[in-house]
Amino acid sequence: MGQGFLKPLVLFFLFILFLDALYSLNAQQVGEASAVISYSRFKKELAGDNVKNVTFKGNLLNGEFRAATPLAPAANGQKGSGTTAFTTIKPAIDDPGLMGDLEEHRVEVAALSTESSPWRNLAISLLPWLIILGIWWFALKGAKGQGAGGMLGGFAKSGARAYSPENVSVTFAQVAGMEEAKQELREIVEYLKEPKKFQRLGGKVPKGVLLFGPPGTGKTLLARAVAGETGVSFYSISASQFIEMFVGVGASRVRDLFATAKKNSPSIIFIDELDAVGRSRGAGMGGGNDEREQTLNQLLSEMDGFDQHEEVVVIAATNRPDVLDQALMRPGRFDRHVVIERPDWRDREAILRVHCSKIPLAPHVELEAIARGTPGMTGADLENLINEAAILAARGNAEEVTADHLERAKDKVLMGGERRVALSDPEKRITAFHEAGHTLAARLLPGTDPIHKVTIIPRGRALGVTQQLPDDDRHYYPRSYLMSRLAVLLGGRVAERLIYGDVSTGAENDLKVATELAEKMVCQWGMSDAIGPVAYSRGEEHPFLGMKLAQEKSFSEEMAWRLDQEISRIIAAAELQAKELLTAKRPTLEAIAAALTAEETLDGKRVDEIITANICDTAADKNQ
Ligand code: ADP
Ligand code: ZN
Repeated sequence: MGQGFLKPLVLFFLFILFLDALYSLNAQQVGEASAVISYSRFKKELAGDNVKNVTFKGNLLNGEFRAATPLAPAANGQKGSGTTAFTTIKPAIDDPGLMGDLEEHRVEVAALSTESSPWRNLAISLLPWLIILGIWWFALKGAKGQGAGGMLGGFAKSGARAYSPENVSVTFAQVAGMEEAKQELREIVEYLKEPKKFQRLGGKVPKGVLLFGPPGTGKTLLARAVAGETGVSFYSISASQFIEMFVGVGASRVRDLFATAKKNSPSIIFIDELDAVGRSRGAGMGGGNDEREQTLNQLLSEMDGFDQHEEVVVIAATNRPDVLDQALMRPGRFDRHVVIERPDWRDREAILRVHCSKIPLAPHVELEAIARGTPGMTGADLENLINEAAILAARGNAEEVTADHLERAKDKVLMGGERRVALSDPEKRITAFHEAGHTLAARLLPGTDPIHKVTIIPRGRALGVTQQLPDDDRHYYPRSYLMSRLAVLLGGRVAERLIYGDVSTGAENDLKVATELAEKMVCQWGMSDAIGPVAYSRGEEHPFLGMKLAQEKSFSEEMAWRLDQEISRIIAAAELQAKELLTAKRPTLEAIAAALTAEETLDGKRVDEIITANICDTAADKNQ
């Protein structure tokens, strides 16, 4: 281990501190057991010829009287009588006559250096080195990951975890749905099972497979299942691990990973988040990305260096196919692409079934209902849902996981866990009006998703939540739908202003989401008539820093200004729409807010009841 050199260094350091302690002990002995007296008293004793010797140390004067004076011990207060040693402090004022006086009274004069112990000086000068070496050592230890080996060997270790064939027990049976993806990968499975047969027939085997899909859709799972089906060694690494911490390690890690995989072939290398190194070279990243480029180049040359008889398959995953370097897609590299979509409700039911097999599920639980009620959720979300349900059941000491547990778990995954924050009553009322604004807008505007639940119990990071849930999986979003969505997002703030004549910070997230949506509508989806059907890229997220990068703009400053104008215009239009709607239906808004304040959570049905009752009321009022 790399600890080898650090330990003796620390011991050496401690040894020096010990020497220093000895030294200062020695030095202090001069002043030990001495009475502290005033300087004038010292001068008086000197004049009385009663001082035998003195030792100067800076402005400190230690010395001995010739005879124990009655006053000296008393000044100390603790030492027994007969003490002749004394200590006094010389005032910072010059006393030019002192030396003459001392000589005249035949006092033996000595001096001690005021400098601190040489050992301490040595220790102090060593300390920074020790700290630097310590930090270096810790960083090394972190960078090494699981890779064992010598101190410097750790730099080059890939950090890939080697799965022995037995360790991957996942098979296609545990991957629910994804039929097309599985079909695509069966060929790889056949090849890895019987490479000789493939080679004899001269078949060209794909060496690299790229899985495209949002996070949590089971890309890693699928890659592991390929390894599990074939029983080959499996190496998995996230591309961001290639380039963490140290400059210059990425390329060597790639080399190391491929070397290990080749040695243990047939094998599978799985690289997650390929976009972390695979972004197009020289695009959008600004300076300082040499490291990434070197890593990418190494990856490309490793893949080019594959022989037909090297039975290594590289599977990579990304959710940003649009930013990948074209060189990665060339023949012989990642030339096979598999798109992985979010599961539809049938696949969601299958995924739920896979994960429910691990828990005691009550009979007659309709998984189809849960599957239909979770559009947009990924496999990872659904696994999480089942897990939450099992936790809820365990907390309630239930024997089985029931439909109710699943329903509550679904709300938790959808809206975040409930938080016990004590809101004051006025805050509660503002939240109620804010959520009522979202709810009423969502309920009355055309083309919106139905209300699933609205609550003023703080959940996740929000103080209140209005949760809409589409009836079905959506693949397209018409402009009318998005305009209504914007109005719903702004409805909370509009309601606050309508009731209180003021707005609060509660709309922060609404505004963020609305602005992002409006930007996409204008710049990516051509939904603004003033701009037209053109796509303008306005910078992309930095993969690590999470901030927008200034990209080389493909449009003029004037166009940038016009895009900004259109984004604000669209948001303003949506706000106006929400305002007109809520102003017209203010009594209903107040009724929903009142119900929310009283009941805290309303489901879709309850919201419908309140709205119907109020609309009937207003109609009845008019008839009178
Ligand atoms: P990705 O690599 O796409 O981000 P993962 O493969 O890590 O997603 O998926 C996370 C978890 O979600 C998996 O461990 C698995 O339990 C669950 N999961 C995702 N998709 C499926 C699926 N199709 N069938 C069963 N479980 C799934
Ligand atoms: Zn809101």
